[in-house]
Amino acid sequence: MSGLGRRPLLGLGLFAALGAAPARAGSIVGGSIAAAGPAARLALPVQGDQRWSVRALDDPRRLALHLPGATWRGPASLRGAGPVRAARFVESDDMLLIDLAAPALPRGGPARAGHIVIDIRRAPAADFAAAVRAGRDVLAGVARTPAALPLVVLDPGHGGRDPGAIGAAGTQEKRIVLAAALDLKARLEAARTCRVVLTRTRDVFVPLADRVEFARRRDAALFVSLHADSAPGARGASVYTLSETASDAMSEALARRENRADIAGGLRLPSVSPEVQRILISLMRQETRAGSARIARLAVRELGEEVPLLPNTHREASFVVLKAPEIPSALIELGFLSDPRDEAALRRPDHRARLASALARAVRHWLEATGVQAAAG
Ligand SMILES: [Zn+2]
Repeated sequence: MSGLGRRPLLGLGLFAALGAAPARAGSIVGGSIAAAGPAARLALPVQGDQRWSVRALDDPRRLALHLPGATWRGPASLRGAGPVRAARFVESDDMLLIDLAAPALPRGGPARAGHIVIDIRRAPAADFAAAVRAGRDVLAGVARTPAALPLVVLDPGHGGRDPGAIGAAGTQEKRIVLAAALDLKARLEAARTCRVVLTRTRDVFVPLADRVEFARRRDAALFVSLHADSAPGARGASVYTLSETASDAMSEALARRENRADIAGGLRLPSVSPEVQRILISLMRQETRAGSARIARLAVRELGEEVPLLPNTHREASFVVLKAPEIPSALIELGFLSDPRDEAALRRPDHRARLASALARAVRHWLEATGVQAAAG
């Protein structure tokens, strides 16, 4: 089901209700038992989320660590320490069997992100026997992989054989937008609230559909395309979000010019009935539209603090690069190379720095306001 189920905005509850929730089982990717004072400390590094629980067993005296659904990639057996003789994973039972040299019971060890840590201490024989008789879990928990930061995809328009707009002084759109995107990336990364990748980092041609797919493959939280096109009579920065009907003739013409290569790939959905798929798509589109509108609003506000704006700054049009159905997206016209004043400004690094700083603020506010949690794993 690709990244869909991991998109926090969609609400995992919905997927759980549909039986399409991602399994809460991870991989155990290593393991060790070491002496920690009088205790034996069992530490298992986990990828993904993993539920676990421990029971006491008699005859022979053991602890059973249940790891439901886990994929074991740790060593076949673990050497013991303290009251633990050794441990081995029994794949058919999703269970780590811990052989004890003496009666011992588990306690939670020091918390460590992405690890199951259990301290096993000697216990009075009567306590151990009571735990066996109770037949219940004596300890349980969930280990979680530390979440990755949300991903923002920046899309510098044009490139390679497609220079984009060219100003009267010869300024090429593809160069201006790449410089601005690199500046914005550096600012966002310095704030450490998101990861950032560019659809192109060099002067190469990238088809429009590939830019969208690039973001979708990576489960981007936000997609921002940067342009500096040409539009007769237009001056100042402006922001565009997706709509099948353009808000005005200029936006429609801009979109038509940008959309030479068309098509946005098929949607990958969990295997549910067509009816449920329609509901999912509709919910997803609502959330995507709301997220797109929000980044547009924030970008207009922050850009307005720094640079001249085109009147009716937030516009709508059917740009192909805005068509990822599950990723909030906006296209920013940093200015218009067809306007000599905009062209002169866009050539200046200090002007591009003001644009990048405004957009970095907008993205940071968007991440905060949207509450985009990092995707686990
Ligand atoms: Zn462009």
